[in-house]
Amino acid sequence: MIRAQLEPDGIAAILARYAAIVDDSQSLLAVSQAPLPVCCWHNPLKCGEASLLAALADQAITLEPIAWQPGAFRSHHWPGPGNTLPFSAGWYYVQEEIAMTAVAALAPQPGERILDLCAAPGGKTAQIALLNPTGTVIANEMQAARLPSLSVNLNRLGLTQVITTQADGRSLPLPDQSFDRVLVDAPCSGEGNLRRRRRFRPWHPTHGLRMATVQQKLLSRALDLVKPGGTVVYSTCTFAPEENEAVLDAVMGDRAVVVPFKIPGLTAQPGLAQWQGQTYRADIKHAQRYFPHFNNTGGFFVARLQRTSVPPLTKAPGVSHSSVTQPHLPPVPWSIDESPLLQLCERFAIAPSIFDSYDCWATGKHRFWLLDRTSRPPTELGVQTVGLALATQTNLGLKPSTAFLQRFGPLGQKNVVHLPDLGAATQFLRGESQHLLADVEPGYVHVRFRQFELGCGRYRGGWLDSQIPKILRRPTLDS
Ligand code: SAM
Repeated sequence: MIRAQLEPDGIAAILARYAAIVDDSQSLLAVSQAPLPVCCWHNPLKCGEASLLAALADQAITLEPIAWQPGAFRSHHWPGPGNTLPFSAGWYYVQEEIAMTAVAALAPQPGERILDLCAAPGGKTAQIALLNPTGTVIANEMQAARLPSLSVNLNRLGLTQVITTQADGRSLPLPDQSFDRVLVDAPCSGEGNLRRRRRFRPWHPTHGLRMATVQQKLLSRALDLVKPGGTVVYSTCTFAPEENEAVLDAVMGDRAVVVPFKIPGLTAQPGLAQWQGQTYRADIKHAQRYFPHFNNTGGFFVARLQRTSVPPLTKAPGVSHSSVTQPHLPPVPWSIDESPLLQLCERFAIAPSIFDSYDCWATGKHRFWLLDRTSRPPTELGVQTVGLALATQTNLGLKPSTAFLQRFGPLGQKNVVHLPDLGAATQFLRGESQHLLADVEPGYVHVRFRQFELGCGRYRGGWLDSQIPKILRRPTLDS
């Protein structure tokens, strides 16, 4: 299949397919050729909003608030949003503005059990978790190659209630009717991302209809997993009705209805009533189509479904080993009294009572996790991660995770190394060793630069070795 170069003609050819269904197709074409603003949201677990804005302003990055989404911001010029100290410290998450509508439609409530069926790289999972601090969030992803991005993002943000699993969402072996809400942010052909792509595959029936089959199965499984009266949100970043309205129309039957939702401050078009001779059921008009020129964003489709009390279609499937490519470890609860957590409290002089509302879990013999006590791992399916990475048992002793130190290090009173300048911080974030005199005991230390918690280092004989995981290392920092 030929990939178009995203020259104006290429974009026009891709969008021509949708000219008849979009209000003002000329404006759509014009905005699709313009750069996309960079957007992010502030992480309240790490800092106050004012501190984030001030830290970025110091680097000449000015952000304007996104009026419809509290805590979210946009910038019209920000070449390297992943290259700052606040980013490394987990103060914000970079996410396309219009993608934030999916969780706004899902409207998570504290204490709920919520599933994100197609979760990597995890931006929406993280938004759900922040809105549901006393519940359980299960983030599932099928592709092994995408699991690291999911766990790295959740750890960088310091989230303690998310459990990640790896399974095919079309047959996720968790009990039917066991979730209050399910998000299906489905894989799709993705024209909504045209503004940030240099190359793009024009919509093609063979590929598009194959995607639609996967999407239908994902949505169908989601409708069985949610409780009667519960909410399922179906979202994609494609304009193709075959992957949006047609999927809803094919799958819902009497198991769900599309219910209205409105995000004040955002312009949308209703879901289509028909396309290429096919007519869709009437409630699909309550879905929202966000075309890029409506709000100067990417493109997105969101439908909020309410589950009826009609029984599930299928019995909950068992684990299919063909759908699992990574080993699934049953997590084991670990008594706090014997847990590595107390060793870390002692090493860094953190008051153990801070962890009264957490449990310690282990996967295998060497990896430990910190999970909110209100969050429960599934028993039917092994897990990839269980809350925040806490520590790993190594032959050099118990190694605290960077994620744990970034989140809880500020509460520690000892074995903290303060880096003297930006050069030292840059070296640390590159994963390098440096000569440094510090008043700490030999062994694992928490490393800080100014107000930024950078994570785990190892100190011995006047040398600080960075223990920053490879995936978090940064060759340069914007300063
Ligand atoms: N919700 C994510 C976020 O906000 O960061 C983006 C999700 S992306 C649109 C769709 C994801 O679904 C991809 O990571 C893809 O690997 C995953 N996926 C594809 N097929 C799947 C399946 N059958 N079961 C579960 N996940 C699947």
